[in-house]
Amino acid sequence: MRVRFLNCGIMYPRLAAWLSPYQERCCCICMLVEADGRLVLVDAGFGTADLEEPGRLGSGANLLFSPRKDPELPAVRQLERLGLDPGRVTDIICTHLDHDHAGGLSDFPRARVHALEEEIDAALRPGGAKERLRYRECHFAHGPDWVTYGTKPEGIWFGLGCFGGSSGLPRGILLVPLPGHTRGHCGVAVDTGSGWFLHCGDAYYLKEELRVRGKAPFGVRAFRRLAHLDHSRAMDSLAKIRELLREHGDEVRVIASHDQFEYRNLFGRPLD
Ligand SMILES: [Zn+2]
Repeated sequence: MRVRFLNCGIMYPRLAAWLSPYQERCCCICMLVEADGRLVLVDAGFGTADLEEPGRLGSGANLLFSPRKDPELPAVRQLERLGLDPGRVTDIICTHLDHDHAGGLSDFPRARVHALEEEIDAALRPGGAKERLRYRECHFAHGPDWVTYGTKPEGIWFGLGCFGGSSGLPRGILLVPLPGHTRGHCGVAVDTGSGWFLHCGDAYYLKEELRVRGKAPFGVRAFRRLAHLDHSRAMDSLAKIRELLREHGDEVRVIASHDQFEYRNLFGRPLD
């Protein structure tokens, strides 16, 4: 199983300049997994259409997050540059379906799209203002071939409930529910053969949130109160990630979507 990291979006959240300077620039880290001759994406980042017609993202997202309109960032463009046929992407697993994670789905219209059932329900039938703001109907207008996962986990992975074995994904790729940021938010665990990666999506923003002792910076705590749909559930999920690292930190490496310091570790250069 070959794992690559792609950054499929850059945002400059306006609130962060005064609220949370660590987040004044954010990446959108996705994973590209090559297994059994297939390509599997973990999260889809922004799509080509989002950057060509920024109105697709909505005025709220453009105003609050000011995503960079760089046509080279979408996953489909990056695959082409790597010499990989985007048609080989058979499956996309979404940690959740916020606009900065699902925009790229329409660039792979034939791929199966895996997400927790609760998340798909929230995206297609948003239940309140906070949900209506975060999901974009246009991202699902092509009619994704959904693969859904219910509420009862199929198995246990390092003490956490998980899904994956029965859905036709390559062995060693699992969905790990980590709700709170959104209704059906999950992590995606990938076995590299020499250890696991857990893509935690937006379950945390900065590694400092994972410290067992001590608090995350004030601005990050304030930001996540705004960003998480259910703050208390999100903190429960964060506690699970902390415990996972405490018990199995030598076997599992965690990454988050928007951590610019993680970007520097993965790509060997700062996010510009
Ligand atoms: Zn996000």
